[in-house]
Amino acid sequence: MSPAPDIRFDFAIEGELHDESFLDTYEVSLMFSQTERELGEALALKLEGLICSEHGQVARLTVRGRYHAASDEMDVQYDLEPCCPLFMARVIKTLNTVS
Ligand SMILES: [Zn+2]
Repeated sequence: MSPAPDIRFDFAIEGELHDESFLDTYEVSLMFSQTERELGEALALKLEGLICSEHGQVARLTVRGRYHAASDEMDVQYDLEPCCPLFMARVIKTLNTVS
């Protein structure tokens, strides 16, 4: 069995949703859970079995998503927490590979 990557999610609404907001709180939370599911599956597929040859660690990352209430925009970034710079480079390279 291939070791699975360690993926965490940190999604939050930045600022206050207002009456004219494109999405309401419920819709934003739906979007969060959908994004979490889709991204989680895609990332797990890409990073499955990837381990540091030196330290035997799996890829560890936090997906940070922020929904900006004022602009109705969502940005997503990956915080990588690898065991060493060499493995970080491998993880980044794997993430950038178009599947
Ligand atoms: Zn390492």
